[in-house]
Amino acid sequence: QDRFTVVIVGGGSAGITVAAQLKRQRPNLSIAIIEPSTTHAYQPGWTLVGAGVMTLQETLRQEGGLVPSGVTWIRKRTAAFHPEEKAVELEDGSRIEYRRLVACPGIQLDWDKIEGLKETLGRNGVTSNYSREHCAYTWECIQSLDGGTALFTQPPMPIKCAGAPQKIAYLAADYWRREGRLYKTRVEFLLAGDVLFGVKYFVPSLQKMVDYYGIDLHYKENLIRVDGEKKEAVFQRVGSDETITRSFDMLHVTPPQSAPDFIKKSPLANAAGWIGVDPATLRHVKYDDIFALGDATSTSNAKTAAAVRSQAPIVVANLLASLDGRPQNASYDGYGACPLTVSYGKVVLAEFLYGGKPAPSFPYDQRKPSRFAWLLKTQGFPHLYWNLMLRGYDIKVPHKEVEQG
Ligand code: FAD
Repeated sequence: QDRFTVVIVGGGSAGITVAAQLKRQRPNLSIAIIEPSTTHAYQPGWTLVGAGVMTLQETLRQEGGLVPSGVTWIRKRTAAFHPEEKAVELEDGSRIEYRRLVACPGIQLDWDKIEGLKETLGRNGVTSNYSREHCAYTWECIQSLDGGTALFTQPPMPIKCAGAPQKIAYLAADYWRREGRLYKTRVEFLLAGDVLFGVKYFVPSLQKMVDYYGIDLHYKENLIRVDGEKKEAVFQRVGSDETITRSFDMLHVTPPQSAPDFIKKSPLANAAGWIGVDPATLRHVKYDDIFALGDATSTSNAKTAAAVRSQAPIVVANLLASLDGRPQNASYDGYGACPLTVSYGKVVLAEFLYGGKPAPSFPYDQRKPSRFAWLLKTQGFPHLYWNLMLRGYDIKVPHKEVEQG
């Protein structure tokens, strides 16, 4: 049985960032990351892969090159948590003990909840940017569609990057517009929810883009079944048994999402299955020696890599303070960001805090589609991610709240 001062479950955006910051601040700390995957993905890039702006290869790196030196990488899956014994159990039954645990295994994509989807994903014009295997197929579908009906779906919240389902709808519509095909293409966006975007401040700008491209919005429709051969998608009207069948030539699916199953059934989960943490300190509500961040937590921020960038220094500061017996007063404000690609070349950069309070970082009206924000999304953020964030540099971009109006 191994024992480490800090054990990190999940070596995605959050796990690597926390490990790198801890190593930078305490080079001698004994740290282990438990992560089964050998390939790390920059998932925000998948929207751009789906639109032909980035290649899949550019979004992937070997995990082994990202685990900071001096940190032990345990290339296995975590199966269970034993918080009373300060241990996690791996898939092979072995246990790893810790003094402090950081849990960040991400969110689970529930493809199985949509009948028939797995059988047809990647064929028959059915695709998803949420899948590493299929985001490049989205671009094939967009290029080959020469008129017809394109459906874009969005499941009930929460999902990671809540703007991603509509980002690809705008980019696809813009591509068809530029190719002179939009006039003969019916673009429909079907959402399980009843708002276009969770932060009110940005909705009018997005609605304007919907109108510009002539996208048909259908609220409260949840995808439940796909028949790829027949090219039919079945939606359930939220809150009733009524179903609606729609034909398509292309279907972009955003799958329903939930906390990972091994979290749901663990003592770390709250009633909804997420890792229950204090929204400010990110410390577990029940276990003082456990911290959590990223997509798997109970906090109400947007589940984004941008949120992880803000959360990691809070977890690191509070974790180190707890090891030293100092007060843990680092506090997370709920910052999250969503760069909405509204066309090739323009982005609405939504940044906000807990409660959906807009909090822009830059001195221009961020509701307006901007070329600068497009350069950030396509070049700035990937650079920031690989070269600064994952290497443990705490990049503080001061954002300030604005009045909603
Ligand atoms: P992940 O980075 O997903 O990492 C979780 C890790 O845990 C994985 O490596 C996984 O293998 C591992 N794991 C899972 N189960 C276990 C287990 N049992 N044991 C051990 N390890 C385990 N964010 C933005 O900020 N801006 C964007 O524009 C943006 N766009 C997006 C577009 C798409 C299409 C997608 C899919 C995501 C987008 N995101 C965006 C969201 C962003 O990628 C996530 O919010 C971020 O990666 C969350 O980090 P995480 O560490 O919590 O989860």
